[in-house]
Amino acid sequence: MSSTWHILGAGSLGSLWACRLARAGKATRLILRDGQRLQAYQQAGGLTLAEQDQTTRFAIPAETADASGPIHRLLLACKAYDAAPAVARLAPRLAEGAEIVLLQNGLGSQDEVADQVPHARCIFASSTEGAFREDDWRVRFAGQGFNWLGDAANPAVPEWFDDLQDAGIPAEWTVDILTRLWRKLALNCAINPLTVLHDCQNGGLLGHLDEIDGLCSELGQLLQHCGQPKAADDLGEEVQRVILATAANYSSMYQDVRAGRRTEVHYLLGHACRTAARHGVALPQLEHLHQRLVDNLRARDLPSA
Ligand code: NAP
Repeated sequence: MSSTWHILGAGSLGSLWACRLARAGKATRLILRDGQRLQAYQQAGGLTLAEQDQTTRFAIPAETADASGPIHRLLLACKAYDAAPAVARLAPRLAEGAEIVLLQNGLGSQDEVADQVPHARCIFASSTEGAFREDDWRVRFAGQGFNWLGDAANPAVPEWFDDLQDAGIPAEWTVDILTRLWRKLALNCAINPLTVLHDCQNGGLLGHLDEIDGLCSELGQLLQHCGQPKAADDLGEEVQRVILATAANYSSMYQDVRAGRRTEVHYLLGHACRTAARHGVALPQLEHLHQRLVDNLRARDLPSA
């Protein structure tokens, strides 16, 4: 089986992973959106990683989905709403038993991907690392963090897992990956939409703690109903800790909205509300929050799903 890391999406996280894997001498290939993007990438001569005051360029080979050759290992590094269509285009190239690492935030996109490629193993990831694009093909590693990877259907550690350590990518294999993703989703639901609605930094939410308490209580009920009681432990306390520790930051959803970019709401608060409805649980405060956010996004001409 080929040991090449195919990485779809040379955005923030995809570039961060690609540069570190290439730096460690791992065979790495980028899959870009189309011929035009490929041409622009080739003109730039590679991906540049900026870390503190150091910048390094890596001439990582790139192709589009239409290239030939089987793919055995794919890191899917696009936004949640792009994940299933991107994988559908690659499906004919995915070898039997191919492994796909899904970096998408939130929940729902992982199942959409798995439905497209039943012959592949889908490995879910949850990342607290931070990166952003300073320019096309140039990423800044902005926040040290950690990555948890796991496969709820199969606890076996993939044979390539040590590649991550070799590349300096901090990561742990966990059988509780769904709990981690649900916990992160719940924190996101309690914080990010309110920063958009109240037009504030995370710290601005300290003036809305009653509203947040109510949301955390409903999120806790939801997590109990969908078999994730551990993800509900001390949720309200952690939400307050995060708000205090990141008081001066703008949430990712706030930044997306401000920049006129599509948000991942469908896979965050939207997923929470759909799951509640499927379980027949009434969560009026969460529903109301979702409706206010949808109205706010529509008023800005941004997709609300
Ligand atoms: P991003 O910077 O917007 O990058 C996404 C990339 O995917 C873009 O380069 C885009 O191409 C590419 N793409 C989309 N569809 C494609 C296709 N069909 N074929 C090839 N490339 C395609 O996003 P990101 O910030 O890296 O986020 C990726 C995921 O990681 C999200 O779910 C996010 O929530 C999560 N995450 C991000 C961070 C972070 O610090 N950035 C941290 C934790 C989790 P173009 O360049 O052509 O548009």
